[in-house]
Amino acid sequence: MTDGTHDPSTPTDAPDETEVVAAGLRAGLDDYELSPEDQALLLGDGEAGWDDAPAGPLPVLAVVGRPNVGKSTLVNRVLGRREAVVEDVPGVTRDRVAYEAEWTGRRFTVVDTGGWEQDAKGIHRRVAEQAELAIELSDAVLFVVDAMVGTTDTDEAIVKVLRRSGKPVVLAANKVDDLRGEAEAAALWSLGLGEPYVVSGLHGRGSGDLLDVVLSVLPETSQVGGAVEEGGPRRVALLGRPNVGKSSLLNKAVGSERVVVDDVPGTTRDPVDELVELAGRTWRFVDTAGIRRRVHQTRGADFYASLRTQTALEKAEVAVVLIDASVPITEQDVRVVQQVVDAGRALVLAYNKWDLIDDERRQLLEREIELDLAHVRWAPRVNLSARTGRHLDRLVPALDVALDSWDRRVPTGRLNAFLGELVAATPHPVRSGKQPRILFATQAATRPPRFVIFASGFLEAGYRRFIERRLRETFGFEGSPISLGVRVREKRSKR
Ligand code: GDP
Ligand code: GDP
Repeated sequence: MTDGTHDPSTPTDAPDETEVVAAGLRAGLDDYELSPEDQALLLGDGEAGWDDAPAGPLPVLAVVGRPNVGKSTLVNRVLGRREAVVEDVPGVTRDRVAYEAEWTGRRFTVVDTGGWEQDAKGIHRRVAEQAELAIELSDAVLFVVDAMVGTTDTDEAIVKVLRRSGKPVVLAANKVDDLRGEAEAAALWSLGLGEPYVVSGLHGRGSGDLLDVVLSVLPETSQVGGAVEEGGPRRVALLGRPNVGKSSLLNKAVGSERVVVDDVPGTTRDPVDELVELAGRTWRFVDTAGIRRRVHQTRGADFYASLRTQTALEKAEVAVVLIDASVPITEQDVRVVQQVVDAGRALVLAYNKWDLIDDERRQLLEREIELDLAHVRWAPRVNLSARTGRHLDRLVPALDVALDSWDRRVPTGRLNAFLGELVAATPHPVRSGKQPRILFATQAATRPPRFVIFASGFLEAGYRRFIERRLRETFGFEGSPISLGVRVREKRSKR
């Protein structure tokens, strides 16, 4: 079967019958109240009318500057509440680093970074690294300078990093509490970052204008994932909590076969990705720069890890989530897996460090998987060792299976024939004398597969899960999340 499905009950040479039945069901829908979106969905095979498609991620604003210039105070202004204030040692990482903000009806994420001293040592050094990372993962930067102090060497050093990042920068000349400070603020033109916007975080002076400027440089949705061209090598994200073996696996996979980006037609240069030759084909491993770059464990590191994962997922089609099989599965492992599912990407689970596993640990692992990862039982699994190279050759077949499922479309006729049989064998339970009827179904989208069922009444969650389970049993979808939407439509009133 060319479409990779495996329902033995439907002979491949007789698709017409199911299509005829589907057409009949489809015609029956005309007796129901259908919205224009419904019609579009039924007519097209595209994404038209799909109403719960996720909007893009919120744009990210990083707030950076030396310690004590008033970053937190300004962030509080932006948020309109006192939440960001943490009476810490100045410049030390905060408890929370990201906040959702809104200005003139637009929402965005504000990331408050710790202070940043040039050549900072110890904790300061780490805070500086986090600030650099925050810039890298942001769509725009609000650079805060203390206008009363003027520019320092540290400010100049930050400017260099900001230039290198190529991100839009808005310069805030803070602590201008009254007119006397205006002249000092004007001196900040010398930083070469354009107009210094005069504000007083403490009094709120100028903060509205500042936000207007910030919003004018922020994109509608976050671009840090980067727009990726269609086609070209398939895009893989290598994910997992720290120390599971991502860089080891990457190094093993890259081996001596590193591909020069220019050699592959239809690929743009993206310095954070790497092209890797596996099983004779080229794959794009996205955001490998993030894997190769080791970030120290600090407070807030969790947030960055998850933002990093999110960024990689936006670019990727399929994710390989590495799990260290030699130690118990952690909450963080489960969270990464959930991020993949929520992002609607194909998923392969790779249990790494298999060389360290004995029988006892293996049994424990199976139990942990049953407990924590049963909900992604559909993901292909590879037990490998990045160190010894064991089973690395199984990665590509697993990727292929997952991507096939992710791309798969079930013909409307087959889908309705399947549902017809399912409903006949196991009807929806009757509730208060009523029983919703399934009228018609169509696959509204692929990548990942999304189904829409038109029904005459509400379908209970249990019954929807049952349909989903049967969909998987019948059509596979190994390695891909799938979703099922139900649209309840009323019968047209007769005149
Ligand atoms: P951060 O380390 O950059 O986050 O700086 P904070 O927000 O913690 O502020 C450092 C100090 O500067 C605090 O004592 C604030 O009250 C003070 N401060 C912040 N903004 C202003 C301002 O606009 N005017 C004045 N006079 N003081 C401010
Ligand atoms: P990352 O933080 O996910 O990139 O993890 P690394 O690749 O840096 O690996 C963390 C540690 O685990 C390193 O000491 C690796 O040598 C080790 N490691 C990675 N893969 C394996 C493996 O398959 N077997 C064993 N025994 N150790 C591994």
